[in-house]
Amino acid sequence: MDTIDEYLIKIEDFPKLLTTLLKEKVVSKIIGAKVRVDKKTQKEDRFTISPELYEKPEDISGFPLTNLIAYGYARTDSAAKFLHKSVNGALKEKVGLIARPCDTRGIIELVKIRQVNLDNLFIIAFEDRGMVINVSRQIKKMNDIDPTKVVKEKIGDKGLILKFEDGSTKEVGLDIAENCTRCVRKVPVVADLGISDLILPIDSDEIILKVYSTKGEELVEKSKINKKPLPDDMKTKDAEKLKEIREIALAKRAKDLEEWDKLSQEEKMIKLQACTMCGMCIRGCPVCYCVDCILTKKRKAKTINKETYQLTRIAHVADRCVECGNCDNNCPTHLPLSLYFQSLNDSFKEKFGYNAGESLEDIPFRSGKAISEMEL
Ligand code: SF4
Ligand code: SF4
Ligand code: SF4
Repeated sequence: MDTIDEYLIKIEDFPKLLTTLLKEKVVSKIIGAKVRVDKKTQKEDRFTISPELYEKPEDISGFPLTNLIAYGYARTDSAAKFLHKSVNGALKEKVGLIARPCDTRGIIELVKIRQVNLDNLFIIAFEDRGMVINVSRQIKKMNDIDPTKVVKEKIGDKGLILKFEDGSTKEVGLDIAENCTRCVRKVPVVADLGISDLILPIDSDEIILKVYSTKGEELVEKSKINKKPLPDDMKTKDAEKLKEIREIALAKRAKDLEEWDKLSQEEKMIKLQACTMCGMCIRGCPVCYCVDCILTKKRKAKTINKETYQLTRIAHVADRCVECGNCDNNCPTHLPLSLYFQSLNDSFKEKFGYNAGESLEDIPFRSGKAISEMEL
């Protein structure tokens, strides 16, 4: 996306943008984030982030920004899914949200099927290397790390880096989710403001703020946030880093899909037998939007087998799949769901020139309008 301005701001000042959104009544609700509190110990678990709805400026005292960038929302939650499920797609009210690039792609697809009103949204989106999932569980197994001493996190070239309260830092050997390693769309497709930490060292107390829209520009001014123009050399470095990350993802995607394509249809079908019909992939999918899911009904009535269950789901969402990886990340039997979808998406791109989540102008190729325009 083209930027109007780019700044450096203090990470601790980020919540000012959110409180201004509510104070100035730009939106009536914000889909924000909170660190989950462990029920047993009543201690905060900084590695597990949940979406949280804010309606009053005074409710926003801080914001787990670096946590959200590094870990995303836990389990099946995502900003796009929460927007659709819990705020009715902002169809009738103004809503602010903090989104990943794949959330913005999901929003584009949900707008096309009239599940979201884009005009009612104020979007702050990340430039994204990807997220490391299930960190809380994995850190607990590491004897050399005290999770209570962690004060900051960042995704670097070798995965997750943690900063501790004594100022030391450590690469902990946890890499981004498999789907994210193949994601080549690391920037938002629609947003008012952008946030990036790609080129900033973990020691930095600053973050890059990108202004994409006049709405965003007005909000930054009204917030009176302290900001420094981003120097030109940092702009160049940021663009080069994005290019480098994208090229790595492109190469990984090509390699993985080449391997995937070597499998026969039968082998791909056999993999589906691992499906337990648990429904986690449906719960996490931002573009699975039916309130009354036919697959859930059939599963409960025991009138569907696992292959048909999963093949039907793939058929339902394939042309809308924005490759967020939420299904893949949550599948308890580790079915390579993102490979099924990414391989299909590449075929759709080749045959129909369609790339889900890219633009509001692209007409889904299974829509009545697209079919009526086809030369049969
Ligand atoms: S799928 Fe892409 S946009 Fe979504 S979290 Fe992963 S890297 Fe980010
Ligand atoms: S999450 Fe995995 S096991 Fe559960 S229904 Fe989806 S594909 Fe099947
Ligand atoms: S099918 Fe999977 S990868 Fe595609 S949008 Fe849904 S959850 Fe994301």
